[in-house]
Amino acid sequence: FGKLFIVGTPIGNLEDMTFRAVRILQEADYIAAEDTRNTIKLCNHFEITTQLISYHEHNTRVAGERIIEFLQDGKDIAIVSDAGMPCISDPGADLVELAIEQGIAVVSVPGPNAAVTALVASGIAPQPFLFFGFLSRQKKELKTQLEKLQRYEETLLFYEAPHRLKQTLRSLAEQFGDERKIVMARELTKRFEELLRGTIAEAVEWAESNEIRGEFCLVVEGNQNVQHEIATAWWTDLSIKEHVEH
Ligand code: SAM
Repeated sequence: FGKLFIVGTPIGNLEDMTFRAVRILQEADYIAAEDTRNTIKLCNHFEITTQLISYHEHNTRVAGERIIEFLQDGKDIAIVSDAGMPCISDPGADLVELAIEQGIAVVSVPGPNAAVTALVASGIAPQPFLFFGFLSRQKKELKTQLEKLQRYEETLLFYEAPHRLKQTLRSLAEQFGDERKIVMARELTKRFEELLRGTIAEAVEWAESNEIRGEFCLVVEGNQNVQHEIATAWWTDLSIKEHVEH
């Protein structure tokens, strides 16, 4: 069998491409790309001439089966997404699962990832963290998701599209309150990179008074006021036990 390489690519700055990523993409028999037009640009820049095949969210099943056949045929396949690590809010996870089922070796070739890049510069506790990715676009499901996340003590990481940012920040304020710290990491690794730090209320205010452009990743402080109920539970248990013994 060939190997399936999961290859990270830049999230904006081409200098973040790793030497290993270039070599693996050059040596692979095929590159499975989320958007071949995008990946052609990357390949041209790094003089990679490997044949591209398309693998995106709408053809995962058909393309996935074909890729597995190539792998079973001894071909090495490298999967890339438009930016960052494949599988992380991007296609790839289905293919990894299929490959593992077939006993095919899966090799992770690490590269940039927007969430972790934002987290480490945020100044908010880097661990424990919970990477959520994109919140639901359905109102009811969004509410359910945020009600659940509201209780988490972990730092929360979200992706959001610029045209939805304002509404998402308002929903965060509604469910999490105004006071939590938030960092909006904008255009990471690019020319106009910015880290906007403040409270959720300040973020809403900023979004309401500025034109929102570019790519955003949100880092939100976890719930600092979680009631620890373990002590109470222990005490209750003990009193029951005493009661039984008497
Ligand atoms: N696979 C990618 C990764 O590993 O980060 C994420 C792909 S996801 C489809 C795209 C989202 O990631 C954007 O909507 C944005 O929230 C975030 N993102 C990607 N590049 C970014 C950047 N340069 N700055 C800030 N956020 C970015």
